[in-house]
Amino acid sequence: MTDCIFCKIVVGDVPAEKIYEDDKVVAFLDISPITKGHTLVIPKQHFKDILDTPDEVLADLISAVKKIAPSIKRGVGADGFNLGVNNGAAAGQVVYHLHFHIIPRFEYDNLKMWEGSSYAEGEMEDVGKKIRSYLQ
Ligand code: AMP
Ligand code: ZN
Repeated sequence: MTDCIFCKIVVGDVPAEKIYEDDKVVAFLDISPITKGHTLVIPKQHFKDILDTPDEVLADLISAVKKIAPSIKRGVGADGFNLGVNNGAAAGQVVYHLHFHIIPRFEYDNLKMWEGSSYAEGEMEDVGKKIRSYLQ
């Protein structure tokens, strides 16, 4: 897609600190990192979000994440990492070219990604029922 910043990174029209590339996937450092080493893993082909992306491409992305993540951990001395995908504006998606965030985590980084809430009496069962009804 011509007006997509990540497509431009794929072809080299926009500079990026690339850490991995193969014929299907590119990984580069996020320009505004949550922690040092925060990496975006993207398919070379343009898909807007996870629901828009064929299963084979998702498999390629997850394989790349598994390949890259240990090196990110070692490279920045992280103790763990979060893997995240924002889907849709309400979920914080800003760039509409699918990307997996690998966010290095450190034992004492004090980051809180999100907080849990609770269900009212019977609400969890209702929500479960509604979701299951669309899966049949
Ligand atoms: P999201 O909110 O999931 O759409 O995430 C988009 C991410 O892309 C943000 O974390 C941005 O910091 C990052 N980003 C945007 N432009 C660039 C760029 N040119 N190079 C590296 N990361 C970028
Ligand atoms: Zn794109």
